Amino acid sequence: MSASGSGKGRKPATRAVAAGRRKEWTGAVVNPPVWRASTHLYADSRDLAAGRPDVDGHFYYGRRGAPTQWSLAEALTELEPQADGTMLYPSGVAAIANVLLAVLKPGDVLLVTDNAYEPTRAIATGLLKQYDIEARFFDPLDVASFRAAFCDRTRAVMLENPGSLTMEVCDVPQLAAIARETGAVSILDNTWASPLGFPALERGCDISIMSLTKHVGGHSDLMMGSASARADTYKLLRKASQYMGQVVSPDDASLALRGLRTMPLRLQQSGAAALEIATWLRAQPQVAQVLCPMLEGAPGHDLWTRDFTGGCGLFSLVLKGRSVKQRAAFIDALELFGIGYSWGGYESLAIPFDPQRARTASSWPPAGWDSEDRLGIRLSIGLEDPADLMQDIAQAFEKMDAA
Ligand SMILES: *Cc1c(COP(=O)(O)O)cnc(C)c1O
Repeated sequence: MSASGSGKGRKPATRAVAAGRRKEWTGAVVNPPVWRASTHLYADSRDLAAGRPDVDGHFYYGRRGAPTQWSLAEALTELEPQADGTMLYPSGVAAIANVLLAVLKPGDVLLVTDNAYEPTRAIATGLLKQYDIEARFFDPLDVASFRAAFCDRTRAVMLENPGSLTMEVCDVPQLAAIARETGAVSILDNTWASPLGFPALERGCDISIMSLTKHVGGHSDLMMGSASARADTYKLLRKASQYMGQVVSPDDASLALRGLRTMPLRLQQSGAAALEIATWLRAQPQVAQVLCPMLEGAPGHDLWTRDFTGGCGLFSLVLKGRSVKQRAAFIDALELFGIGYSWGGYESLAIPFDPQRARTASSWPPAGWDSEDRLGIRLSIGLEDPADLMQDIAQAFEKMDAA
């Protein structure tokens, strides 16, 4: 490979391998080394006085990064079609908070999807409120009420697709188009699909956010977030990020780059395993609902088929009846699933969820379901053999029913 951009215009897996590996950053080795640096040295006083352009790729000071971080940012930009730049943040939540503070000002209204990641909800109702920014929640499946929710103070919309825990798929192209008509900025938390499965800007969004902690890291050993956008919006994000002193460590950037190279393969594998397990789960008497948009006939599958180019290993199920105690017995009986937050690692995880306490614009369980069926479990399927995972779930169901 000679210079940067040799993956440009090629298929996503090829881009994931080639992206960000500029010769001037990698030298004679394959990966950019870990550049641990606060001070960047200038040649002489004239060099110092000349300064540096405020874009990635110019040695200025550690807070603006060095080749390890620039390489990761450039790689993520190349993965997201139509993006001109990417900002990195120390976590996914930092990305969300910084993006919202960059695009909103006092008096503005932010529309937030009702199935947003809970810390996003907390930022919207807590942090933003301190700045006199009003958050209004909407049902992501009700386009008419979304349209009606706009007022002349609406400045941005916060979307997630599929939604956290309950996995509803919303019509992002239509919601983003409505936002654009009114001049509002559309922000998508694109952590689930990544640009490999959902090219967010191409689908009409202005900002694509990812928690790199999940699929990009992929090994449950780093925390980081990103926001990719077209040139004008990217400039705005960059400025806000500089005000707030956002920088990621080169060691973590190096780990994220390592994860990125195998991300297409891991998503393909864990997505296929998740689909196999979801298909099997649908036939189990303990299961009322399988909330996996990749699964034919599951909620959101039609929109998923229309808009997505890939999935991943994360989905949810809802138990048929059962008690909280029985659900805990099931989770405790699992041998191959860790109990813990986060997802997108090589190892499988399970976590219970009860979204009703966080909903204000939509109901849980949704209308039409048996109200007894409401105890959720989220599974993050890793890289184990799916046959072993199904066997593990089957034995845990037996222990649940004996509890
Ligand atoms: C985990 C997660 C985040 C937050 O990412 P962190 O890196 O843990 O801060 C944001 N959005 C979604 C959908 C997530 O699942």
